[in-house]
Amino acid sequence: MAAQETVDHKYVYDFSEGNKDLKELLGGKGANLAEMSNLGLPVPPGFTITTEACQAYLATGREPDGLAGQIESHLEALERAMGKRLGDPQDPLLVSVRSGAKFSMPGMMETVLNVGLNDQSVEGLARQAGGLAGQAASGGADRFAWDSYRRLIQMFGKTVCEVPGEEFEHALDEAKHAKGTHNDLDLDADDLRGLVDAYKKIFLEHTGREFPQQPREQLDLAIRAVFESWNAERAVLYRRQERIPADLGTAVNVVTMVFGNLGPDSGTGVAFTRDPGSGAQGIYGDYLANAQGEDVVAGIRNTVPLQELEQLDKSSYDELLGIMARLEEHYKDLCDIEFTIERGKLWMLQTRVGKRTAAAAFVIAGQLVDEGLIDLDEALHRVNGAQLAQLMFPRFQLDHEFQPVAKGIGASPGAASGTVVFTSARAVELAAEGKSVILVRRETNPDDLNGMIAAQGILTSRGGKTSHAAVVARGMGKTCVSGADEIEVNVPAKRFTVAGQTVNEGDVVSIDGTTGKVYLGEVPVMPSEVVQYFEGSLDPEHIDNALVRAVHRIMTHADGKRRLAVRTNADTGADAARARRFGAEGIGLCRTEHMFLGDRRELVERLILARAPGEREAALAALLPLQRADFEEIFREMDGLPVTVRLIDPPLHEFLPPLEQLAVNVAVAQERGEDVAKEEALLAAVRRMHEENPMLGLRGVRLGLVIPGLFAMQVRAIAEAAVSCARNGGVAKPEIMVPLVGAVQELETVRAEAEKIIAEVVGDSGVEVLIGTMIEVPRAALTAGQIAEAAEFFSFGTNDLTQMGWGFSRDDVEGAFFWRYLELGIFGISPFESIDRDGVGRLVRIAAEEGRAARPGLKLGICGEHGGDPDSVHFFHEVGLDYVSCSPFRVPVARLEAGRAVVESGGSDSR
Ligand code: PEP
Ligand code: MG
Repeated sequence: MAAQETVDHKYVYDFSEGNKDLKELLGGKGANLAEMSNLGLPVPPGFTITTEACQAYLATGREPDGLAGQIESHLEALERAMGKRLGDPQDPLLVSVRSGAKFSMPGMMETVLNVGLNDQSVEGLARQAGGLAGQAASGGADRFAWDSYRRLIQMFGKTVCEVPGEEFEHALDEAKHAKGTHNDLDLDADDLRGLVDAYKKIFLEHTGREFPQQPREQLDLAIRAVFESWNAERAVLYRRQERIPADLGTAVNVVTMVFGNLGPDSGTGVAFTRDPGSGAQGIYGDYLANAQGEDVVAGIRNTVPLQELEQLDKSSYDELLGIMARLEEHYKDLCDIEFTIERGKLWMLQTRVGKRTAAAAFVIAGQLVDEGLIDLDEALHRVNGAQLAQLMFPRFQLDHEFQPVAKGIGASPGAASGTVVFTSARAVELAAEGKSVILVRRETNPDDLNGMIAAQGILTSRGGKTSHAAVVARGMGKTCVSGADEIEVNVPAKRFTVAGQTVNEGDVVSIDGTTGKVYLGEVPVMPSEVVQYFEGSLDPEHIDNALVRAVHRIMTHADGKRRLAVRTNADTGADAARARRFGAEGIGLCRTEHMFLGDRRELVERLILARAPGEREAALAALLPLQRADFEEIFREMDGLPVTVRLIDPPLHEFLPPLEQLAVNVAVAQERGEDVAKEEALLAAVRRMHEENPMLGLRGVRLGLVIPGLFAMQVRAIAEAAVSCARNGGVAKPEIMVPLVGAVQELETVRAEAEKIIAEVVGDSGVEVLIGTMIEVPRAALTAGQIAEAAEFFSFGTNDLTQMGWGFSRDDVEGAFFWRYLELGIFGISPFESIDRDGVGRLVRIAAEEGRAARPGLKLGICGEHGGDPDSVHFFHEVGLDYVSCSPFRVPVARLEAGRAVVESGGSDSR
């Protein structure tokens, strides 16, 4: 079509001028229509107005200079090519005006069909439709033309002029009622003429003007409405949800209308080149004879499987199959397609690389490699960690009608059903009887650990994605819904209420940790085959399971590619063993404070509150063998691999009895005249240690420097366990990590004491113990050059680094105001979930660079929650860390993403 003659900025592209790589400028739909057109496929002629034109319109509130002229000349060219004029009373060219952004936003923006119809051209259309069919101007053709006209007024009114859609629906219902029918198709040409009059009145009432009769005015207003629909409320919400940037704008496609509603030899359909649900090869789609696309969407009549088109119109069917094969070959991927058949002639209205489920993504990537269409690097690029994570959780079979009663935050994915319990003790009891239980709490604390281990899932009414419940549950790979605030939990009464119903201990609930939904009763759950594969119980070489085979193949390739090592955060032998099966190459964080709960809690309390030296030493002596056994177990499981053990880092309040409770107990006992001298002393001690901000208080290295002998006991236990492991023929590689360091002097002090103990214990056993630090206080990141002098490794604690970098309390802010920050776009995702590259990430980068400058060969890792977040893994790859460490269940995700990071940065980095 006509080349642009003006010197203006180019805002309009004919289909022959575009291609599939111009999505940013032409939107997905426009770019792909151009691509198909250039492949010689039957695409109705048309042109695309660019996203730049939309951006300019949205910025200034008017069409940019030159746009109107360019539309004019493209329209003229289109008219010449079709041999018709837009809205010609004798033989009108009609066009559709369709949105199409860079990223697909299904149904979020506007479309206007049949532009060009008016009181005259509707008659011309009827004549043409009748004539084309080789019939006299039949009632059928009249009906078609008037139906098209009423559709235009309805869509135009609603979309362009904001006339409430129900008004038109209502008038349509009345027309059907008057005719005594429920079916649109029973309305004849006269009925539809009457309906057009009714629609025009509605239009006039709501807009104060007549329905525009000028075709070009219709076109311009429709284009403007599509531009504006970029900022429609639902589109804004969808973009936020999908993290699509707000400033891209939409392109507008002006396409010659073709009609699927011209009789039984016409129709419309959608098709996929493979099953987007499972990835299985074949032809999947639906067809609806004598209908337009919007009828399919509206579900007015039932579609038939695409295969039935073979009987109805073999030649179109064969042509369609040929085109689908061609598109797959060309796009080298699953394509989805919209098509229309107008009186036996096939037209392609859209194609794009189709959306698919997580399982289909892996299966299709594997198949395309087999077919030689893509290589393994490309297959790795086509899948992602979020999809893999989805495949690793059990799922609900929601084929029955289950209605959620509440919705919280999907804090740890998966699906779990079980008996409701409100205390850790009860959870343990019922689990021991073989029951599946759901632990329900307002929020959890470290004392709930046993209950959390015993439970199938955890449900809390408070807290966000980094609440205690969420972090611990994710670590265990256990389903958790947090912050379900419609639930009113009453622990003493052993019940909760929700949506006017009461759920008592012993009742059954089901929770979905992916969607955050809570159901009453039992929803059936299916285990994950992918986990069974990672666990070693499904052998990919010997089973007929396309998904498992594809996962195996792609994971193997990712492992071959990646530069980052992947370790795990694990505090128990069982977690370590599981993580190892999942591919962990060591432990990046063993949180020792978790080893001081349960029975040992009392010893820790004595240690912290001790006033006399003897008391403290007795507590330490009792703890030493217990700790040594803990480490022996972990070293055994991680035989030959590095294990980073972090010295104790408890927020103190978690280890002391709650102040208020203690004060009440003492007061009540005093009232009764009981002897409370011991309790009073404890109360005084707890008051003395009480902190307003425990997260910023006596934690980590500070505690180690204040309580004599505590770190020393742990260092000794680690060294002794390593030596004992070596004596038993194993290889232990301990790395002692000091938490919460902000100044090199803190580390030097701990180091001096630790080195003495290590030298004494290790002797000539050959065991080597490294000493390093966490970098989790901003000051540590900023003085990394100094700190590296005293550290053999750094591990970034990005949870605290985020907390202290932003000044956000980890425990409170997500529930308190993050929703508003997300709504305002201040962040696209919680910085506790995905690393804030610009701020916290910059601290990581500075520390990595300055640390390595001071000590070449300094080992660098990350052990905050971000270590298992796909996007963050790419960042840590870019920064050049040696490893990421994450909870066992995220190890495969991190392996996959570390491989993808290499492929996507264009490297052929192989280890
Ligand atoms: C961190 O702060 O990122 C970290 C790993 O330590 P914790 O979560 O135990 O504070
Ligand atoms: Mg920390």
